[in-house]
Amino acid sequence: AAKEQGRNGFRHFTPSMQEKAENRIRLANDLRFALSSQQFQVHYQPILDTVTGQVVKAEALLRWQHPEHGFVSPDLFIPIAEDTGVIHEVGNWVFREAAKLASRWRKQCPAACGQVSVNISPRQFMHEKTVDALLGCLTEMNMPGECMAIEITEGLLLDDQDHVREKLVSLREAGIRVALDDFGTGYSAMGYLKKFNIDYLKIDRSFVRDLARDESDRAIAETIVIMAKRLGMKTIAEGVETNEQRDILAAVECEYVQGYLYSRPLPAAGFLEYVAENMRAGCSVNGG
Ligand code: C2E
Ligand code: MG
Ligand code: MG
Ligand code: MG
Repeated sequence: AAKEQGRNGFRHFTPSMQEKAENRIRLANDLRFALSSQQFQVHYQPILDTVTGQVVKAEALLRWQHPEHGFVSPDLFIPIAEDTGVIHEVGNWVFREAAKLASRWRKQCPAACGQVSVNISPRQFMHEKTVDALLGCLTEMNMPGECMAIEITEGLLLDDQDHVREKLVSLREAGIRVALDDFGTGYSAMGYLKKFNIDYLKIDRSFVRDLARDESDRAIAETIVIMAKRLGMKTIAEGVETNEQRDILAAVECEYVQGYLYSRPLPAAGFLEYVAENMRAGCSVNGG
């Protein structure tokens, strides 16, 4: 294709693009050993009930500490892991770690059933063994499916719909909840919302960022919440950084909030401490 573009194609192949391509190849190689070399860690970001302020969920987010480059963003390496197929092994590992955290959370607070959600990229989701691997992991750990959720993106619901529906049904029959991540940033061909059973819509950070200043963003957020309610779903707003944003989300009755206002993603131990602290604070607010 580069040849067909002729000179133009060549002219635009700048050194920085070549560098990028080389970096990608290097990262792809390094990714193959990252899991066995214990360079991955899973962090957990608290998700709070907007009304009670209780931590009721967590999102599992993968962290890669590269031996030379330091922290590499998942936005950079997840697509590479998808292209190379490494995502299957790594993704199953993330789910298992997240289920372990959910289990520890349950032991720490038997009263509250915290739920941990795991991002599943399209290629990982479509792999024939993924559903069995996730369900097998829960059986093995003797964990109810209700303690877990998966986060998928709109793109997945647009192609090969029968196949996707079948897999989602199996997961939901086991109690695993399904969240639609980055909602509103993709194609938003919303017909799929009536074809699939989705539990949560996640309002993308890009709509939350300017919520206090931008009337359109407020209208979009409010409309997502109303639509979700009418369709029997709940909404989770991500990227909540200010009290103003929180207040607006509470006013439009968005059920859950997640963001730096409350906490950055934390290692497992730190997350469980955060939960304990959150529960103590909740008790004192309620006078006990
Ligand atoms: P996402 O699923 O939309 O995750 C939310 C991202 O927003 C996370 O970035 C989180 O750290 C960040 N975030 C949360 N609250 C705030 C806030 O208040 N302000 C700002 N500026 N950012 C906030 P992160 O951890 O860098 O992950 C980026 C993306 O990488 C995720 O987006 C997800 O698509 C993907 N990803 C992360 N872990 C995994 C994984 O285990 N598997 C797969 N397939 N994808 C993953
Ligand atoms: Mg997510
Ligand atoms: Mg998201
Ligand atoms: Mg996002």
